[in-house]
Amino acid sequence: MTDTRYLVHGVFWDGAPAQTVRHDGGSPVLRIQSPAGDLREVSLEAGARLGFAVADHGRFCLGHHKVHSASSRDHILCPASAPAVKGKQCERCFVLDDSRLIHDFHRGGRVPDGLRTYLLQDHWLYVATFAGGASKVGTASHVRKWNRLAEQGAVVARYVARAEDGRVVRLLEDMVTREAGLAQQVRSAAKAEALAEPLPAAALDGINERHAAAVRTLLGQAAVDDFSPEGFSIVDELWVRPAQVAGLCAPTPRHAYPHPLEQGKHGFGITSLSGTNALVSLAGTDAAFVVNLGRLAARTIVLGDFASEVPAVQESLF
Ligand SMILES: [Zn+2]
Repeated sequence: MTDTRYLVHGVFWDGAPAQTVRHDGGSPVLRIQSPAGDLREVSLEAGARLGFAVADHGRFCLGHHKVHSASSRDHILCPASAPAVKGKQCERCFVLDDSRLIHDFHRGGRVPDGLRTYLLQDHWLYVATFAGGASKVGTASHVRKWNRLAEQGAVVARYVARAEDGRVVRLLEDMVTREAGLAQQVRSAAKAEALAEPLPAAALDGINERHAAAVRTLLGQAAVDDFSPEGFSIVDELWVRPAQVAGLCAPTPRHAYPHPLEQGKHGFGITSLSGTNALVSLAGTDAAFVVNLGRLAARTIVLGDFASEVPAVQESLF
């Protein structure tokens, strides 16, 4: 055990997509940055053990992205490791971040050439449903078509349109929100809470199917004068959920993790993962807990053989 302090960048699902519902996909990891500035990955696959102590108080800047093309971008670390003041960034990195400009492009503004190339690739419009039945409309670039839904923690999702670029897809997204009332955001805390008591699979599939059908009908009726006819096509394609999510979606008893992740020592075994939420086991109890590892993003930790305290009055959990 060393006392090296790592800055947590978050949970990433950047690996190859799941091919069928029985297959793992995305190779999820917790990405951490060493004091020397190199990025490392801690596996979050089922069976992995994660032990850490939160080192410093508060959140620190995760740097910014420069987009070079459809599939190439650089992650530029914060030279000052400054405290985060804009979400997970300092003021300087927030201003330099290319992704901040995506919405300018959508509104017809000028963007750097690399980001422009990225935005000119095909994009997908999807409808995602989470464990409690909350649903959203969202967009994914072609290269991140599958991974985007895995990192969001979707339980069921369907692609409803393929658009010729990132501008058209965002116009469609805004139209769906306006006309069908589908949100573009489901809060991270709401996703975690819903996983403590997920709805049955058939119910979630039904909710998603109804929303997706309504959106397809809406897109079919969309005024053709708003879009060139070749600007998008309507599709009906189910997202393949990675097998790692199955445990969290099963109707087995579990509890919200009883300790704040922003402080103290934690250690658990991972049995299932959906987006940033893990189903974990603690030494000394058969109970299962839902932990939102997304709460660690922009915080510093020390890795080690720590174990989470088992809640004292265990009976009260049942
Ligand atoms: Zn910064």
